[in-house]
Amino acid sequence: MTNELIWDKELIKRYDTAGPRYTSYPTAVQFTEDLGPDAYIEAAARSRDKNSPLSLYIHIPFCSTICYYCACNKIITKRREQAEPYLQHLYKEIEMQSRLFSRDQVVEQLHFGGGTPTFLSPEQMQNLMDHIGKHFSLADGRSSDFSIEIDPREADWGTICHLRDLGFNRISLGVQDFDIKVQKAINRIQSQEMTQSILDAARTMCFRSINMDLIYGLPHQNCESFLKTVDTVIEMRPDRISVFNYAHLPERFKPQRRINEADLPSPEEKLKILEQTTTRLQQAGYVYIGMDHFALPDDELAMAQENGTLHRNFQGYTTHSHCDLIGLGVSSIGKVDGCYVQNPVRMEPYMEAIDGDRLAYYRGLQMTDDDHLRQQVINELICHFKLDISGIESSFLIDFYAYFADTIPALEQMQADGLLTFSNNKISVLPAGRLLIRNICMLFDAHLNKKTHKNRYSRVI
Ligand code: SF4
Repeated sequence: MTNELIWDKELIKRYDTAGPRYTSYPTAVQFTEDLGPDAYIEAAARSRDKNSPLSLYIHIPFCSTICYYCACNKIITKRREQAEPYLQHLYKEIEMQSRLFSRDQVVEQLHFGGGTPTFLSPEQMQNLMDHIGKHFSLADGRSSDFSIEIDPREADWGTICHLRDLGFNRISLGVQDFDIKVQKAINRIQSQEMTQSILDAARTMCFRSINMDLIYGLPHQNCESFLKTVDTVIEMRPDRISVFNYAHLPERFKPQRRINEADLPSPEEKLKILEQTTTRLQQAGYVYIGMDHFALPDDELAMAQENGTLHRNFQGYTTHSHCDLIGLGVSSIGKVDGCYVQNPVRMEPYMEAIDGDRLAYYRGLQMTDDDHLRQQVINELICHFKLDISGIESSFLIDFYAYFADTIPALEQMQADGLLTFSNNKISVLPAGRLLIRNICMLFDAHLNKKTHKNRYSRVI
């Protein structure tokens, strides 16, 4: 597959709108509190009957300092002991959840996100992994895919060595920008040496894959300065690079009020940053996976895209779509046999539910047959930039263009604009349409058509 992209500024301007990132379909905006108390338990029983493999997401919400751009669910504290009561609740939740599943169901994928997972002490991390291993069957060796988000300011060689011993084999490093002026404006001072040291440690300990996160659109960034960071990261040669767009929404995310709006790059400058960054990464040999993500050609994500097995989930792109996902901890989201559930984002209701011996989830959604069909369509488009219409018709027993008759005028317009081509058998996204893949997916989103949630989503570029 070619990973060519075409930058057509006129087209990008014309299609510039807010849209979902499709880390799930339906998106979390559609979750409601109407989901019955037994829906998840029944979904878990179906998962058990099918002996589906499992994926666990564990949320550690603590950070010792605040980054002003942050839109994550976190608790800022220097008091490390504050993690202990949370962990006690998490242990109980792990046990309660495990009772719904079978020990024959192997955990192939495990992800620790935050917050800052390494806010936990080595002993706490060890205890947490022991609890998980006591209640779930963890895959070992090459079949496991255990990843953790690392803030290089909160880790050293000892941390990385310990994590490897615990079974983690993938890490994701938050970098954002190496420019000191930018770092001061976002309250995240992190030297290049700090990041390099963690990278060296991960390589020495033979982590299978290393990701680095960058953010563009932060205060004081311009194309020239950001490309210096990009060049440094290219020299460091991580297996994957994510380049996220900073969305300045101070009315929704309080820490962002500390960012001076006048210091932010203009939309034109941001577009230039993205264009030049994409070009620079591709010239350096990285494959454009889609939606902010790049990977070296021999990385599993690039290979999964090549052989048609790539999927998207709450952590971005994944090769583990066949797993049922169990969310553990405050604000986490799970998806088990077509049933989405989310835990409370605030600590008190989360702990109250666990203290009352109840599963903590408070909202969710049971997918319908229509949701499954649309999810498949959106997933194929966003991961592979093409859609096998005959395959969809035979899997879901539908006449595609009769079912999606209302999308035909928009598909015709996109074809005329050079974003895609469509025929009886397939839809192919063209190089000019790849950056606008969210717009194409939005055509097949039934929920978006019912209600508009413009202020809930970021811009598509
Ligand atoms: S960006 Fe990460 S490290 Fe910074 S405050 Fe947010 S969750 Fe914590």
